[in-house]
Amino acid sequence: MELLTRPSVFHYRGDMSPAAHAREFVETVVQTSLEKWDAEPRYPREAVAASGLTGLFVAPERGGLGLSYAEAVEVFEELGRGDGSLAFSMSMHNAVAAAVNGAGTGEVLERWGPPLASGNALGCFSLTEPQSGTDATTMFTRGTPDGDSWRLSGRKAWVTLGGVADVYAVVAKTGDAPGHKDVAMFVVDGSAPGVSFTEPYRKAASDFLPITDMILDDAPAHMLVPPGVGMRAALAAIDVARFDIAAISCGMLADALDTAVAYAAKRETFGKPLLHHQGLTWMLADVATDLAASRALVRKAAQDIGSDAGPVSIAHAKRFAPDAALRGSIVCSEVLGAYGWLLDHPIARIIAVAKMMTVVDGTAEVQRMVIGRSLEAGTR
Ligand SMILES: Cc1cc2nc3c(=O)[nH]c(=O)nc-3n(C[C@H](O)[C@H](O)[C@H](O)COP(=O)(O)OP(=O)(O)OC[C@H]3O[C@@H](n4cnc5c(N)ncnc54)[C@H](O)[C@@H]3O)c2cc1C
Repeated sequence: MELLTRPSVFHYRGDMSPAAHAREFVETVVQTSLEKWDAEPRYPREAVAASGLTGLFVAPERGGLGLSYAEAVEVFEELGRGDGSLAFSMSMHNAVAAAVNGAGTGEVLERWGPPLASGNALGCFSLTEPQSGTDATTMFTRGTPDGDSWRLSGRKAWVTLGGVADVYAVVAKTGDAPGHKDVAMFVVDGSAPGVSFTEPYRKAASDFLPITDMILDDAPAHMLVPPGVGMRAALAAIDVARFDIAAISCGMLADALDTAVAYAAKRETFGKPLLHHQGLTWMLADVATDLAASRALVRKAAQDIGSDAGPVSIAHAKRFAPDAALRGSIVCSEVLGAYGWLLDHPIARIIAVAKMMTVVDGTAEVQRMVIGRSLEAGTR
């Protein structure tokens, strides 16, 4: 496979904080190109590769930034202000880059670790199957040993960056027993024989982001995490992705709120700015409270990741922040009246993408299951 060499569109500057850098990437690259990427439609893999934000959780000695979760919150909020869908794809890539550089050994680590950290290879994560998303362990994709490596057969669904990514972290069973004890995580080269992709799904928004089924027909694979701990490793990766999504949702809601406030300060009805009509100001005040609550939950999750409290704190943040972004962006659209429906402002797009944020990496109901279990166990 021919990997990307970095083009000169944008370069990471070590003298800026990661969050300031993400803001500059959004302002100079994302905001100026998003419409073009969507119209073509084309995933901006060169821009992502050159962003310097592709090894966020990879240790510096392996070529990453080695960010703390507190630092990552700020980065993902900035990326969310640019575009939630692009930020989501970068979250998926970063989860795979961290998994391969953290758990990979031998050929897998050598071949894929450095290019994933640098962004020269793109990664994505494949757990969901056509018949099962929430109930993820009801999966039919099977791994069978083949000498020192493995072969995978089955069909994965909702593969974000399907056909565009180079490296696929695929979760599959290695036997037929019910449950998750035989679940392992594999690494699959997207260009290997036996790997194919459907046409991208037709979606409500973000045409530039390909999402496909992936068909594995006796495809060569390397084991990344063995059975016994494979499902736990997948859930740990998903937990970090849920945390990213909550932070991205904060950025999206902040963008919608800023747009609505700026509009309401200028637009007049009945002789005064919209912002001076108390009915509207109070609506926006509630959005601001939801944004503050979302940010507090995400920052609490950042503190708790890695401890026993981590999964529940992440569930609170993932349950609340995307819902708040969806509800709040609809309110912000209301403030713009008819203009809220136009693509001239970012709010219509934010509403569509916020709906997606409520589903990806586990719906609000799944988060309630996690929170509910903690209530029952008395560990909240
Ligand atoms: C834009 C997008 C990108 C995605 N990218 C990826 C990706 O890259 N990789 C990947 O592996 N997956 C990906 N997914 C899949 C995503 O993780 C699943 O869609 C999600 O987990 C929900 O699964 P489902 O759609 O099959 O819903 P189902 O599991 O069929 O559930 C349907 C509804 O029922 C609810 N529900 C289910 N069980 C219960 C219960 N016991 N109690 C109460 N309510 C319940 C669910 O919350 C949901 O609202 C993506 C999804 C989207 C929308």
